[in-house]
Amino acid sequence: FFVLGLGYGAQVTTLVRFSAQASELGHAARVVRELKAAEELPEGDAPADPGDGSVEFVDVSFRYPGATRAALHGVSFRADPGTVTALVGPSGAGKSTVAQLVCRFFDVDSGAVRVGGSDVRALPFAELMERVSFVLQETFLFDDSIDANLRLARPEAGTDEVEAACRAAQAHDFITALPEGYATRIGEHGARLSGGQRQRLSIARALLKDAQIIVLDEATAFIDPENEVATQAAIDELVRGRTVIMIAHRLSTVVGADQILVIDDGQVTERGRHAELLGRDGRYAQMWQAFESAEQIALGRAVHDGTV
Ligand code: ATP
Repeated sequence: FFVLGLGYGAQVTTLVRFSAQASELGHAARVVRELKAAEELPEGDAPADPGDGSVEFVDVSFRYPGATRAALHGVSFRADPGTVTALVGPSGAGKSTVAQLVCRFFDVDSGAVRVGGSDVRALPFAELMERVSFVLQETFLFDDSIDANLRLARPEAGTDEVEAACRAAQAHDFITALPEGYATRIGEHGARLSGGQRQRLSIARALLKDAQIIVLDEATAFIDPENEVATQAAIDELVRGRTVIMIAHRLSTVVGADQILVIDDGQVTERGRHAELLGRDGRYAQMWQAFESAEQIALGRAVHDGTV
């Protein structure tokens, strides 16, 4: 459901394979008609350890089909349950590629991606999809009711469960303020909602699915103060007790991360917590300085304009 905005064919194929429910299949078929299908990847049949919510990259190298340069070289890290791993780095560094490989949108060229202790190539697709939820900037929403969009995550969910997920995701209030509440149709790609509302719906959907592993692409496109507070509260709820891999665009959100991976040109060039990395005075420290100056300039401008 997260695929269309990104425009990758492989995700669509993955989505279709993962869509066990008839309602999802109907929607997925529509997506496929809009995008060209990608190559099929062979499915594994060895179930992962159900108690293990870890994600591990072991010396992963990967080049997109047809690309001349590798997008990742020799990437290794481990993300444990109850921790947040933040990926930071310049545009084109490889952050989204890491996120996509967690869910096996593509197969690595060398090394391995492990979910729940198992190589993703050995897992049944349905199991992988059950374990991982994606919350991406471009949330995929259908021109259907809010309720139907949320239930894509778990069609059998009760009304109380849907509502609880929406309350936790700070979405319940805006939904009930709409003319038809949960029955409101949201337009193609959720066009009748604001960007922040779309992201909170996507978070509610992930909460409803209750997967152990969350891949989160932090939104930047629609940050206004009201949405920022609500979206941050929703994210805090989502990450609690789960394994989170977060593509961070604003460094302010990575300060509390358990592990920050600085990705540059397809490689992990620094890793550690915020304070550690600042102390190292390397790439992260430079990025942080640039971030702080930009924030100060923005604040100065807001004070000057009288908006703060
Ligand atoms: P951003 O912050 O701008 O989203 P990123 O760090 O997420 O960037 P990626 O999207 O992972 O970077 O891209 C890593 C490299 O792979 C870039 O050189 C990019 O051009 C390339 N790339 C990404 N997607 C594809 C694709 N589908 N086909 C070919 N090359 C791709």
